[in-house]
Amino acid sequence: MRWKRGRRSQNVEDRRGIRVSRGIGGLGILLLALVAMFFDIDPQLVMQGTEILSGSGGSAQTRIQPVPAGQEAAKEFTSAILADTEDTWKALFSDQLNKKYTEPTLVLFSGAVQSSCGFAQAAMGPFYCPNDQKVYIDLSFFEDMKKLGASGDFAQAYVIAHEIGHHIQTLLGISEKVIAEGKYLNKYQRNALSVRQELQADCFAGVWANNAHRARNILESGDIEEGLNAASAIGDDRLQKQSQGYIVPESFTHGSSKQRVHWFKKGLASGKISDCDTFSMNEL
Ligand SMILES: [Zn+2]
Repeated sequence: MRWKRGRRSQNVEDRRGIRVSRGIGGLGILLLALVAMFFDIDPQLVMQGTEILSGSGGSAQTRIQPVPAGQEAAKEFTSAILADTEDTWKALFSDQLNKKYTEPTLVLFSGAVQSSCGFAQAAMGPFYCPNDQKVYIDLSFFEDMKKLGASGDFAQAYVIAHEIGHHIQTLLGISEKVIAEGKYLNKYQRNALSVRQELQADCFAGVWANNAHRARNILESGDIEEGLNAASAIGDDRLQKQSQGYIVPESFTHGSSKQRVHWFKKGLASGKISDCDTFSMNEL
């Protein structure tokens, strides 16, 4: 990717030097995570659960910790990609939707973080919190991706663009609708709806890449393959297979590798927000 000459974002909040721990302790969170895995509960609910169990009265303990070494290049890269999503989505909102784009904040953390959606640990992966409109990422996730076979700078950009995709859904009121609709569904239907929401974020990541490349010529040969490979490598079927050795389709929350590749490609090919309607399709 040609990203170095691009500008850096002003919206990066670096919290890597802050160590956060909840009163409930690591074991309690681990237990809750296991319970969640067993009963197939959304990790977001677990985060809220730890919030409730540990009390919301500010029992989070913070300490200063050393910033992880060797992350400067990853920080620089993340800031450049965030800046590009700002420029791209600002133009897209104005050109395709006649709306104003509100820039999200990107929080860098290490180990654990306190967000408006609750306490989160790096093991849960990068996430977007609609309550504070912030993307949270532990840069060590990029190292984990390499271990999963998703290497290359564009693979990392795709992950950031996917989280920004969730911000777009929040700005467009889609996330709110999904939550409202989810209240009337059983857990399998709710999961299917959540898969559609995830696939749309993948499609939006493709829309970003299309428009960013047209405006700033950022893609080099091999980049698209890196993105497709990442979409495939971090599909839920692949992740489940790696963690438990078998696949349970109804517990997918992000979509299969094939679905993720399909929707990322669709956004990438057209560059149009309107082509990312993953909700009205019968088949995904
Ligand atoms: Zn997502």
